[in-house]
Amino acid sequence: MTIVIIGGGASGMAAALAASENPENDVILLERQARLGRKLQATGNGRCNLTNLHAASRGYHGEDASFADFTICAFDPEMTLAWFRSLGLFTVAEPSGRVYPYSDQANSVVDVLRFALEKPNVRVITGYVAEKVKKTADGFHIEGTGQPISCDKLIIACGGLAGSKLGGTMDGYKLLRSLGHKCTKLRPTLVQLKSSWCGCASLKGVRANCKARILRNGETFAESEGELQFTEYGLSGPVIFEISRDVCHGGGSWSCQMDFMPDVSENDLFDALSQRRKTALQASELLTGILHNRLGRVLTQNAGISQQKLITELSDWELLEVCRAVKDFEVTLTEPMGMDSAQVTAGGILTAEFDNRTMESRIRPGLYACGEVLDIDGDCGGYNLQWAWSSGRLAGLHAGGIHDQNT
Ligand SMILES: Cc1cc2nc3c(=O)[nH]c(=O)nc-3n(C[C@H](O)[C@H](O)[C@H](O)COP(=O)(O)OP(=O)(O)OC[C@H]3O[C@@H](n4cnc5c(N)ncnc54)[C@H](O)[C@@H]3O)c2cc1C
Repeated sequence: MTIVIIGGGASGMAAALAASENPENDVILLERQARLGRKLQATGNGRCNLTNLHAASRGYHGEDASFADFTICAFDPEMTLAWFRSLGLFTVAEPSGRVYPYSDQANSVVDVLRFALEKPNVRVITGYVAEKVKKTADGFHIEGTGQPISCDKLIIACGGLAGSKLGGTMDGYKLLRSLGHKCTKLRPTLVQLKSSWCGCASLKGVRANCKARILRNGETFAESEGELQFTEYGLSGPVIFEISRDVCHGGGSWSCQMDFMPDVSENDLFDALSQRRKTALQASELLTGILHNRLGRVLTQNAGISQQKLITELSDWELLEVCRAVKDFEVTLTEPMGMDSAQVTAGGILTAEFDNRTMESRIRPGLYACGEVLDIDGDCGGYNLQWAWSSGRLAGLHAGGIHDQNT
C-alpha cells in the first residue's frame, strides 16, 4: 500500500514513522520547504517544549475540544516520551510538566525524527509543494511542484497558518476544502497582544514576573501567572501567550491588569517603601532593588510622582499610589498581533467530519488529517506538539493499516 503524507512537520513525521512500521507499506513524505521540521526547530525558543506531562487531562480548545480526548489518551505524553526514547532522544521534565530535550536544543528532536525516517520503505521529498489533490477510483492523486503522485491513502499534515515565516500556510485548509471539508474561522493564538498604552515602547525588552488578568468590559476573561515581556507594541511572554486565546474578539473593551509582585501584599510593599523614606534618594529610585529599574521608574511615573522628588518628601498617599501601580497596573488592549507572529492557529478544519479514533475523514474514506490543520489548539507549554504527535501517530497507524495495542 502507498501512503502519501503532505507536510513534513511534527505531525507529518510522526505519521510517516507510524505508517512505515509495516515494512510492506510504501511511505512518501512531501515537504514544501528545503528541509523537514523547520517550525519544530524554532519551537520553545529553540529548546522545543515537546510535550507536557499534564496534557492527557486538559488544555485543548476548538468547536469540539473533546475531540482531542481520545487521540491524546491513545498516545499520551508518557507513550510519546517512551517513543522518543526509542528513537534515541533523552528528555527532561520541568516541575511545571513541560518537557524539553536533555540537550536543550530543538535540533535534537528534529534530528532523531529525521534519522528514524531513513528507512527503506520511506521516501522523503523536500521542496515539493502539493498544490492539488483529487480522489480517484482507488485512492488519491497529488499534483504539485514535482512529479504527480498516486497513492492508496493520503494524510494531510500541512499545519496551520500561524508562524508563516517558519512555514505556516493556508495549503492544508485549501487541500482539505477541495476534498469537501469545511473550515472554521481562523484566529491567531499563543500570540502577543497590542496595547494603546504608550509606555510599552519605553519598556521594550523588559521581562517581569507577574500575575496577569485579561478583562473584557471590566470582567475577568482569563488570568495566569508567569513571565511577561514588554514589546514595542504591547505585551508578550509566556503568561500572555497562555491567556491570549480569543482576546479582543467579539467586541467590548479589553484590558490587561498586572500585579508585578503577586506574592507580596500591598501592606507589606507599603511598609517596605516607607522604610526607604530614610534614604536621600530621588523617587526614580523608589523601586530600585525591587523591580527591573526601567519598569520601576515607569510605574512610579505612572503613579503621578515626579522622578526628581526626594523619597523623604513622598506622602503616604503617594506611596500608596506607587503600591497600586505595582500591584494593579492596567493597560488597554487593542488587538492580537497577526498570524505571522502567532505560535498557533485557533480554528481549522471541522473535527466533526473526522473520526478521532483513526483521524480518518468521515466523508472521504482513505483520507486522514492530523496536527494544527484541524480545529484543535492547545495551551502554551507543550500541548500543541503533543497534539501533533498523538494525532500524527494515530493517522499514520490507521492509514498504514497497522493494529497498535495502544490505540
Ligand atoms: C515560534 C513557535 C514556537 C512554538 N513553540 C512550541 C513549543 O515549544 N511547544 C509546542 O507544543 N508547540 C509550539 N509551537 C506550535 C507547534 O510548533 C505547532 O503546533 C506544531 O508544529 C504543529 O504541527 P503540524 O505538523 O500540524 O504543523 P507543522 O509543524 O507546521 O508542519 C507542517 C509542515 O507542512 C509543510 N507544508 C505545508 N503546506 C505544504 C504543501 N502544500 N506541500 C508540502 N508541504 C507543505 C510545512 O512546510 C510544514 O513543514 C510553536 C510554534 C511557533 C511558530
